[in-house]
Amino acid sequence: MSRYRLRPSPAQEVALAEHCGHARFVWNLAVEQHAHWRPGIRSAPGFAEQCRQLTEARAEFAWLRAGSIIVQQQALKDFHQAMANFFGKTHKRPTWRRRGHSEGFRIVAVKPGDVHRVSRNAGEVKVPKVGWVRFRWSRAVPDGVKSYRITRDRAGRWHVAFAAVPEPVPAPGTGEVVGVDRGVTVSAALSTGELLHAPALRQAEKGRLVRLQRKLARAKRGSNRRATVKAAIARLKAREADRRKDWIEKTSTDLARRFDVIAIEDLTISAMTRSARGTLQAPGKNVRQKAGLNRGILAAGWGRLVTRLEHKAPGRVQKINPRYTSQTCNACKHIARKSRESQALFRCVACGRQANADVNAAKNIRDMAAGHAVAARGGPPLGGPVNREPQPVLLPA
Ligand SMILES: [Zn+2]
Repeated sequence: MSRYRLRPSPAQEVALAEHCGHARFVWNLAVEQHAHWRPGIRSAPGFAEQCRQLTEARAEFAWLRAGSIIVQQQALKDFHQAMANFFGKTHKRPTWRRRGHSEGFRIVAVKPGDVHRVSRNAGEVKVPKVGWVRFRWSRAVPDGVKSYRITRDRAGRWHVAFAAVPEPVPAPGTGEVVGVDRGVTVSAALSTGELLHAPALRQAEKGRLVRLQRKLARAKRGSNRRATVKAAIARLKAREADRRKDWIEKTSTDLARRFDVIAIEDLTISAMTRSARGTLQAPGKNVRQKAGLNRGILAAGWGRLVTRLEHKAPGRVQKINPRYTSQTCNACKHIARKSRESQALFRCVACGRQANADVNAAKNIRDMAAGHAVAARGGPPLGGPVNREPQPVLLPA
């Protein structure tokens, strides 16, 4: 994703805001339909069903019909992707969208001529029902743009982000397999022993954020001061998000270049979070602790890293059932919950080996990927079958 500042004319701004409104309306409709649904009761309305309902809604409401069908359909698709991410444990359950908060819409099936440069500092993008909208040409637009997303931040600034699937990175051809474990104390641990940290805000920036948030609490609702403080907070958070995105790009390229096979836990297997929430009969005990863990995963942008790896190393990413990977000693293969002494330390109760807990798990993930070829010939792979929660169809981006 590369993001550019959009420079719509006042009239275009009105039309863009209308697209945002339609996307929000459709999204909230989908949220409402899913609100009463709980796992295991009955299936929630699927994408096809909701598309049918969208057609009906368009027939009924002229204002909705006047909008772009692409915008509205993509809002539904985005919602289903958000639900898939939710089931995949990488994101929270999608919630209501409010006017003025992270507004935006997505356009797909972009043709090569729909984005072009008009001068040294300006480009133009064709938006359905809006026309050609200028944007600041701050760097080259990637080749092969397939879709883009237009957003309006809380500070009222418009951006366009072009999505192009990156070129695959050639494999090194060494046959080397790496295991990657999503850590909590670090963002990712590799079976090589490397600990990767996603960048966060610097200490001084964190301090500034705290001060701004205090200021915001004191500022009067609707005041200019409040708006200024809010915009400053939004800028700080955007800076943090940008840094993480950069890190994900660099890390995924690096892994794809260095290793032939990248083994990573399968997020759609819900063993971890299911144990936190428990079952209906036995509700989970450590729900709070896991809720914190989920926040950590979110912050690390794990889902995004996996997606980029799959783009850059197609066919070379192996998803592993994460069951027991954090409780198995990589040296003697003894499985015991007690071996995981703390978040950071693994101390095997059988052989006494000590290791960084995340690196130990990454090594298990690597070994399972390497063992898959063997397992395919004989017995089931380590971990065995697990129950899956209902999965919505993962939609292509
Ligand atoms: Zn051991």
